[in-house]
Amino acid sequence: MKSCEEVGIYSEKHTPGEGVTTDELLALVDDLNRRNEIDGILVQLPLPAGVDSKKVLLAVDPAKDVDGFHPMNVGFLSTQRPGLVPCTPAGIMEMLARSGIKLAGQEAVVIGRSDIVGKPMAMLLLNVNATVTVCHSKTRDLAEVCRRADILVAAIGRAGLVNRDFVRPGATVIDVGMNRVTDPEEFRRLFPRSPKREETFKAKGSVLVGDVHPEVAEIAGAITPVPGGVGPLTIAMLMSNTVKAAKMRRGNFTAAAD
Ligand code: NAD
Repeated sequence: MKSCEEVGIYSEKHTPGEGVTTDELLALVDDLNRRNEIDGILVQLPLPAGVDSKKVLLAVDPAKDVDGFHPMNVGFLSTQRPGLVPCTPAGIMEMLARSGIKLAGQEAVVIGRSDIVGKPMAMLLLNVNATVTVCHSKTRDLAEVCRRADILVAAIGRAGLVNRDFVRPGATVIDVGMNRVTDPEEFRRLFPRSPKREETFKAKGSVLVGDVHPEVAEIAGAITPVPGGVGPLTIAMLMSNTVKAAKMRRGNFTAAAD
């Protein structure tokens, strides 16, 4: 809502109580679907226990699905048709493009296969002609596979799992992970020589760390920081998707493709 206000997009927030039923939420989504002045709907997860989240997400009009999670938009992405793309991977593509990182013909490795990040990320990279490998918790020799990458995207949810053994010197590393570290021992594994950071850690009791170990910055060609890298872009892309939805709903597909 804060970002909407900053960029001049009207927004409203509906916060039904914990006891809300699936039918009540479906009625709310249906009402928002019907209102022509509403261009984007975001269902904030997790929904209360007992609510059928999949049913609620499926009820969102695909043309207003600014999260890009509806199966219709997933299908549009995989068949390269205009549609709404999940914000985090869309933001990463924007960042790679603006940083002049070559993608066509390059080896891209994505760690993580979630519907929100890993899978759409892999699809977007494939759509611009990268050679894409998707890794996950069952992948054998993860570090070895990752070392092939010209572009390595980590979307795992494990603090500092990707260390220098995973990275070919000069590779572009995108760190999607957002992990709150509270254990002092783990902190020292991640930041062995950072007295200043340790002071902050002791004062706050925690620190936000990505999936990529800080030592990787010494060998990567380019790397995104955590915090302040992929996170803020996700919100920016949500604004962008809302404008795109507004244009597409009014038949302006060319502008929406920008
Ligand atoms: P998820 O839990 O849905 O998926 C994690 C993926 O990592 C799974 O596919 C799993 O197979 C894989 N994985 C888990 N352990 C692994 C291991 N040891 N080796 C290899 N693969 C492993 O998570 P998600 O929603 O995709 O999010 C991933 C991370 O990105 C989280 O830290 C999350 O907080 C962060 N995130 C950040 C943003 C942002 O805006 N910056 C947005 C979404 C998610």
